Amino acid sequence: MRYVSTRGEAPVRDFAGVLLAGLAEDGGLYVPESWPSFDAATWRVLRGRPYAEIATAVMRPYVGDAIDPDTFAALCRETYDGFGHAAVVPLVQTAPATFVQELFHGPTLAFKDLALQLVGRLFDHVLSREGRRIAIVGATSGDTGSAAIAACAGRARINIMILHPDGRTSAVQRRQMTTVDAANVRNVAVAGTFDDCQDLVKAMFADAPFRDEMALSAVNSINWARIAAQIPYYAAAALALGAPDRPVDVAVPTGNFGNVLAAWAASRMGLPIERLIVGSNRNDILVRFLDANDMSARPVEPSLSPSMDIQVSSNFERLLFELLDRDAAATAGLMRAFRATGRMPVPDAAWRRATARFMGFRLDDAGTTAAMAAAWRESGYLADPHTAVGLAAAARHARPGVPVIVAGTAHPAKFPDAVEAATGIRPALPAALADLFEREEHYIRLPAELAPLQSELRALVGRNRHG
Ligand SMILES: *Cc1c(COP(=O)(O)O)cnc(C)c1O
Repeated sequence: MRYVSTRGEAPVRDFAGVLLAGLAEDGGLYVPESWPSFDAATWRVLRGRPYAEIATAVMRPYVGDAIDPDTFAALCRETYDGFGHAAVVPLVQTAPATFVQELFHGPTLAFKDLALQLVGRLFDHVLSREGRRIAIVGATSGDTGSAAIAACAGRARINIMILHPDGRTSAVQRRQMTTVDAANVRNVAVAGTFDDCQDLVKAMFADAPFRDEMALSAVNSINWARIAAQIPYYAAAALALGAPDRPVDVAVPTGNFGNVLAAWAASRMGLPIERLIVGSNRNDILVRFLDANDMSARPVEPSLSPSMDIQVSSNFERLLFELLDRDAAATAGLMRAFRATGRMPVPDAAWRRATARFMGFRLDDAGTTAAMAAAWRESGYLADPHTAVGLAAAARHARPGVPVIVAGTAHPAKFPDAVEAATGIRPALPAALADLFEREEHYIRLPAELAPLQSELRALVGRNRHG
């Protein structure tokens, strides 16, 4: 399988190449040269199989010959053996045709573990084959950082330094990062905001000699391997609910558009996933696009579902490329216009193609609290604020006779205050994390300045050179 950039000016690469590259050199995102698909009989054989087996089979065409098949299967097995539920991604029915797919049984209790736990192993495998090392740097306001650290801790070929704004992440989120005790992990609490942290990461990447010296890399959600690793759970859910012999819809609480794009990719692979319902909070750029072809950025506002507080959904570019019939020049032009003006003039025909499959749904904080309360009252189900947006989106766009898969993106115990305010119940952490508040923390505090951060990363990389 070969991958091309959505902007058409970057080298064509294989799976291992796009894994290590992340963003394409032309600023575009890598997509498969063509979409693989399975016939109905092939899908039926996978129904009811262990998750690692479904994951291996669904990703196999994307991996192509970049990784030996037995090695890849073993990496999938090892990855999903580490999850806290035998079904890995269990379905919980909350209404006659509504099924929450719990994507939060990984080590950090959010769906990002499904992809990152595998991607960390893939990185280590490919880097050791090529005799290379990388240093991952990232900024986090909570979720992403802990999932990235859990994915990279103890991996021989990777060092990872994650910046978080000092005193501005929840105690659960900070401790999920700082209680990881591994020589290749450095947590830095920056005296500043999340935006300061992001600017510092950008400044490190912009310093070309430093970037090359450290072999800087990122594991952000534009990496194709992350999307590829999210397709299998939609396949598993659709198969469990009767696909390929029966249609299903999905409702996905959305930020960067990666998770819902994976559901769309599952449909391109021959599964009858018909409607893709995009849930958002008051940061509703995608909903305004789907409702009225208004793709215009506005300032980000905080909400009860912080992982969706995003106004530029980077993975949307992959869908845009398809909506434009894979016209890379047109895609690049629209992305340039968006960057320059904050508005994207999507042609009417392309917008209509999107709205034939994708529906938008917006929910404010009061609605999110009400949705958590309703799920608890009506079904005894404790949903986190993100999943609650998905549940409300599913209810809004339900169709008779068509089951809806709601992406359950986080464990309720990650957002205990919001859940308790809505339901009166304070959700407990699962057993594996029950002692989180007794564990020792490891992190340093630094000012929001480039030089001390660069020294810190140099020191980390220097210490682990011979690991
Ligand atoms: C990251 C995240 C999202 C948004 O996912 P995207 O792939 O960016 O759309 C939603 N919910 C939770 C809990 C998350 O951590």
